[in-house]
Amino acid sequence: MAATQHFDFDFIIIGSGFGGSVAAHRLVEKGYRVAVMEMGRRWTPENLPRTSWSIHRWFWRPRLGLRGFFNMRFFRHATIFHGCAVGGGSITYGCTLLQAPEKVWQSGSWAGLADWSNEMPAHFETAKKMLGVTVNNILGPADHLLLRTAEAAGCGATFYRTQVGIFQAASGQTDCQISPDPFFSGEGPQRSTCVACGGCMMGCRYGAKNTLDLGYLYLAEKHGATILPETRVVDVRPLPGAKDGSAGYAVRTEKSTAYLFRQPRRFTTRAIVFSASSLGTMELLFQLRERGALPTISDELGKHVRTNSESLIGARVPGSTEDLSQGIAIGSGIYIDEHTHIEAVRYPRGSDTMSFLTTILTDGCPGSARIALWLRNLVISMLLHPWRTLRMVRPWGWAREAVILLCMQALDGQIEMRWQRPWFWPFVKSLVSSGEKVPTYIPQANEFAKKFAQISGGIAMSMLPEILFDVPGTAHCIGGCVIADSATHGVVDARHRVFGYKNMYVCDGSVVSANLGVNPSLTITALAERAMSFIPPAAETNWDDAATTAVPA
Ligand SMILES: Cc1cc2nc3c(=O)[nH]c(=O)nc-3n(C[C@H](O)[C@H](O)[C@H](O)COP(=O)(O)OP(=O)(O)OC[C@H]3O[C@@H](n4cnc5c(N)ncnc54)[C@H](O)[C@@H]3O)c2cc1C
Ligand code: SF4
Repeated sequence: MAATQHFDFDFIIIGSGFGGSVAAHRLVEKGYRVAVMEMGRRWTPENLPRTSWSIHRWFWRPRLGLRGFFNMRFFRHATIFHGCAVGGGSITYGCTLLQAPEKVWQSGSWAGLADWSNEMPAHFETAKKMLGVTVNNILGPADHLLLRTAEAAGCGATFYRTQVGIFQAASGQTDCQISPDPFFSGEGPQRSTCVACGGCMMGCRYGAKNTLDLGYLYLAEKHGATILPETRVVDVRPLPGAKDGSAGYAVRTEKSTAYLFRQPRRFTTRAIVFSASSLGTMELLFQLRERGALPTISDELGKHVRTNSESLIGARVPGSTEDLSQGIAIGSGIYIDEHTHIEAVRYPRGSDTMSFLTTILTDGCPGSARIALWLRNLVISMLLHPWRTLRMVRPWGWAREAVILLCMQALDGQIEMRWQRPWFWPFVKSLVSSGEKVPTYIPQANEFAKKFAQISGGIAMSMLPEILFDVPGTAHCIGGCVIADSATHGVVDARHRVFGYKNMYVCDGSVVSANLGVNPSLTITALAERAMSFIPPAAETNWDDAATTAVPA
């Protein structure tokens, strides 16, 4: 290995989500000196919020004093939900880990650039093992309702239990059983089995969810990685002497949770991995290109952003005799047609704040006509069933009485993110979405929600922002730094190396180059495993790794 001791680290990884954690673990294993810079906080069962009413420990808006792990970003084309913590989105995610269908490798800008169909299965297997993927063996009342509705709708045969990253008792029992590390031959931490509290998206307070800080990151740190929480990376630039980064990089950080004294720091590193998520990596690379720190980043940055064509609908059963929050956050799913996939989602009892985003189900075209239709539906419901309607809109008891139906379509829809001054705040540049609108109304999903409400004895729900602003909500923003044959079509090559720079990689959801149609975390993990498999052990590297425009063998 060429001498690197005068650098602070061999690799600095920006972000500790699925891509970043895989990179940290695999690079430490290969003998590199690794640091992970993460702007979110560290979470443990002791400091996680009990319910979503603890807004300051749930939401991430540090300038407003909110230092949680869940963030919402508002764009003209989508409201994007994402995680921000040591462990990235894994702290707040619903732990559904589904393998992308084979056909995704034949579409999008990565098609033909590698033998994906033969290479990826082995990486998916590794990812599944590391994330402890298992079939959910705890079905709650919401899952049984999904099955009954699917049977009534004629698609009962498609019902499946989700594949999840949760430590569950083999018997499906839901008492909390403590066990020594069940996943990594005793190398990992002690764990507890799932109690089916439905709280996965509020952070698991039982240590049953296989979050990254209990897996990949735990192992990376145990074997020498330095993890710096509450550390936001604000600048990355090649060290003097080589504009392509072959002489290493300088990385500047500041404390993400500080109000005044931001504690600026500077580190040097031989190589760098951007793993700040689709939004985070795009945002950082746009800033770095604009200020001339990384001027040759491809003009394709921000293009081919996908949101999985999602719509959130659901039903609330006021006065339900069953606690619909029981089970795991996303326990089961069905396919209502070839392209449309629905999962039953819940929040834990007491986490009722999401009720402010839900309202009575409304069909129709986007725009003022849909708003008028919504108001009409609300008034009619108030007149016909005043008591029931009031109980439907009150926040208290929402999580116990509501099931969200997450509808995803495998149809390709793309938007573009640009670095511009938004019209409503022209003082600074930020990410601004453009392109064709993503549909907020999926008629067949609404029909299913009506049936679900009928069978459960409840009232069907839509998401209020979808009606008022014609903006869909999504937790699955991917793309923006896609894999391609050259900088003319994408930002990284098929080994995730950034075009135009040496020893620079992107490993996160931003590289996903096709619409997956399923929750993306397992695919992001498998892709990161593949990308890291090409990096030689520290003892053999010559620090000369650059993107190639040739199709890899
Ligand atoms: C409520 C919710 C539920 C979800 N449920 C599921 C599910 O069930 N299954 C599934 O597959 N997916 C789910 N997702 C999506 C999943 O969380 C993401 O797809 C996944 O986390 C993306 O992984 P990533 O590696 O791209 O980045 P992330 O996991 O988002 O990690 C990126 C990290 O980078 C950090 N970062 C960003 N910028 C900087 C910076 N400048 N400096 C330092 N650090 C920075 C962020 O704080 C973050 O921690 C869910 C998401 C949400 C919000
Ligand atoms: S259902 Fe509750 S105990 Fe089980 S993994 Fe989710 S949060 Fe943890």
